[in-house]
Amino acid sequence: MSNNSTDLKKIISHCKEYGYVFPSSEIYDGLSACYDYGPFGVELKNNIKDYWWRSMVRLRLDVVGLDSSIFMHPDIWKASGHVDAFNDPLIDNKDSKKRYRADQIVENYIDKIVAKVDKEIKKAEKRFGDNFNKNQFIKTSDRVQQNLKKINETKELLNKYLADEDFRSLKKLIEDIGVVCPVSGTSNWTDIRKFNLMFSTKIGSVADQASQLYLRPETAQGIFVNFLSVQKTARMKIPFGIAQIGKSFRNEIIARQFIFRMREFEQMEMQFFVKPGQEMSWFDYWKAERKKWHNTIGFNDDVLKFHDHENLAHYANAATDIEFKFPFGFKELEGIHSRTDFDLRSHERHTNKKLQYFDSEINDHYTPYVVETSIGLDRMFLAVLCNSYKEEPIKDGIRTVLNLPPILAPFKIAILPLVKKDNLPDKSKEIYNKLKSNFSCYYEEKDSIGKRYRRQDALGTPFCVTIDHETLDNDTVTLRYRDSMDQVRISIDELIITINNKLTI
Ligand code: ATP
Repeated sequence: MSNNSTDLKKIISHCKEYGYVFPSSEIYDGLSACYDYGPFGVELKNNIKDYWWRSMVRLRLDVVGLDSSIFMHPDIWKASGHVDAFNDPLIDNKDSKKRYRADQIVENYIDKIVAKVDKEIKKAEKRFGDNFNKNQFIKTSDRVQQNLKKINETKELLNKYLADEDFRSLKKLIEDIGVVCPVSGTSNWTDIRKFNLMFSTKIGSVADQASQLYLRPETAQGIFVNFLSVQKTARMKIPFGIAQIGKSFRNEIIARQFIFRMREFEQMEMQFFVKPGQEMSWFDYWKAERKKWHNTIGFNDDVLKFHDHENLAHYANAATDIEFKFPFGFKELEGIHSRTDFDLRSHERHTNKKLQYFDSEINDHYTPYVVETSIGLDRMFLAVLCNSYKEEPIKDGIRTVLNLPPILAPFKIAILPLVKKDNLPDKSKEIYNKLKSNFSCYYEEKDSIGKRYRRQDALGTPFCVTIDHETLDNDTVTLRYRDSMDQVRISIDELIITINNKLTI
């Protein structure tokens, strides 16, 4: 597992070199925070989508799917609160002219003090060895106590000023804690302003007849406005969910950290409609379900944690983030929100149409409450890569390997003729044709077999099948496993069943 910014750089260059992710418009010098997925990236991305869709929709009787349009009636965004409240607090450094999110620069400051405390504890642990009592050390070390006090006070003030939209005090806090711009090194800050994150455009060919449209900043609203149509046509009974995967757009002020924060990204969202009063038990249910999902995909508990929100969004009565340990620290990967009936009621108000459910058990109508799970596909992609990227010492140096869960690997099998002659390519293509409808297979004949194994390790292909002269005599091949690098000789007829058995996850 990679753990620092050097490792993020390694992952970025690995993605570029191995056709996972390219900067968008690169021959025009790129477009910031936009990325393209290459031949291996698109496969991994599709596999993550399939894996999510399978567990959230196909394997459940209580969730159905939807694919709503990106452009929607502009009033939807008034009803959802995005026109008035989807704002980030912005601050500029007057010397460097660089722009930052005011809340994030305070959070970075807090992260730095947290890192200091961790360092202090690690140092003490080393010094005292087996006799080290962590709790006692934290309680008795003046320096640690001072820093913990600073962390708590700063967090409290940040939350208060954000909740009150008291940007004057937030600016003063930034000045008081001494945050400087990393580029200019000065604390010459502008006032904080609000900035709406929605991209807008116009519909219609004649400019003055045009009306303003927004590119959706989340897929959730498409689900809410289709709630009744879906419920009726799919004959769903509450509790039930509607899932959708699709592009969202946010004019992020600071889009950085590779595909972690982009301006155009994909979300995998599910809105679960429940009877009012039952939302908290469903909230807990989805917290546990989603964590299990991450665990089964190979994220251990040491790279995952819940972060419960102290400051709730205007629509929520409970919220938590599942955070993943990215190379730049624990950051939000997925949000789970209890959204109450805010959205449905607001759409009812704006349209004068009822969005209520008739519950035949109680013979009455009600507006359901909603528990949402929302995960960024691109962030999940990055998390999967961070969790899989390894540099392993081997006999003749170091190999780079992506230990991707086989189910997510872009290609499951690489079919490799030992040499590019003696009918081996023909025999290999025959085997390729035999396997291709069961597994996504990659065929490669360029370079020595050793180099091709290394390349497939770096691409994350879990199995290599090598065809040699013996194959022509007795229809056996070498099956090589990516993780153990073990090689076994098996007959072609056994390939499908052997690999299938290993492909459970
Ligand atoms: P953040 O605090 O990181 O800006 P958020 O709380 O605004 O995220 P949500 O609105 O809850 O995010 O969106 C749900 C999920 O969509 C997030 O957990 C994240 O995985 C993903 N996501 C949100 N914004 C972006 C972005 N700009 N680029 C990539 N993924 C994103």
